[in-house]
Amino acid sequence: MEEEKHLNYKKVIFVVAIIVLSISCIYIGVILPQIAFKPKEQENIKTSEQQEGRQNSNVIEVILEPKEDIPSREETFVYPQMTPEKVEKVANIYHSDYKRVFLTFDDGPSKTVTPEILRILDEYGVKATFFVLGSRAEIYPELIQDEYNKGHYVANHGYSHKYSSIYASIDNVIDEYTTTENIIRNCLGMEEYKSNVFRFPGGKPGGKYANLKQQAADALKEMNVAYLDWNCLTRDSEGSFDKDTLVRNMIDTAGEKTSIVVLMHDAGNKITTYEALPEVIEYFKNNGYVFENLYNILSGQ
Ligand SMILES: [Zn+2]
Repeated sequence: MEEEKHLNYKKVIFVVAIIVLSISCIYIGVILPQIAFKPKEQENIKTSEQQEGRQNSNVIEVILEPKEDIPSREETFVYPQMTPEKVEKVANIYHSDYKRVFLTFDDGPSKTVTPEILRILDEYGVKATFFVLGSRAEIYPELIQDEYNKGHYVANHGYSHKYSSIYASIDNVIDEYTTTENIIRNCLGMEEYKSNVFRFPGGKPGGKYANLKQQAADALKEMNVAYLDWNCLTRDSEGSFDKDTLVRNMIDTAGEKTSIVVLMHDAGNKITTYEALPEVIEYFKNNGYVFENLYNILSGQ
């Protein structure tokens, strides 16, 4: 009997111990974390709210920054919807019943020249067209954004500018065009952006790749992609000319043309190109030309 009592006593102690242990577990596992960690969680939430608040106030600051010098992009159309008719319009750019000039800059962007060109264009209120290289654009996305935000047309000059590479096949031309379109799109953060206009490195006509370029142009046309050459140039890619020589070359090649597409370059070493630019602009202004860019050709229906 004595032994049985002792056993019962042991059982009671065991059950009590289990209950105490269970309560302890519940306390440690469920209640304690709520008491101990909840304030921390709330603190975290508060911190992230504060961060969000800071981010929001940053956004507001950005929106409130004065940007009078940058035209509203709503005023120009953003994503040219290309049609075969518009591809033809680009092909017929050299015909016009009024005097107009398109300033175009190839081979950029570059940190040394592109910002200077943008500054001068801003000073004169002139909108230009930039045929950018994909390989340069991916280094300086902020310059592509600047070009776009200031109302210039960002068009496509391929990726590598290596003739042996881009003109190795028609597919290579299309690949370089497509890659560069994607890079421009990423630079601008606009999934819908399409330039739809290509400039062949070295120009479309002539040279030892003439046949291949013609076939590539036909393939691009099938994709509703236009290409654009030029009918006036400063010859800034043909040697180290001083600015006076560049201006003279421009005047000589402009001649008496009514609709002019000027070829210039904003690669890193084209210092005299931006030095000559004010005189280039003033020449066309003084001779009654209207400055246009590809938006003027491609906007509308
Ligand atoms: Zn080029």
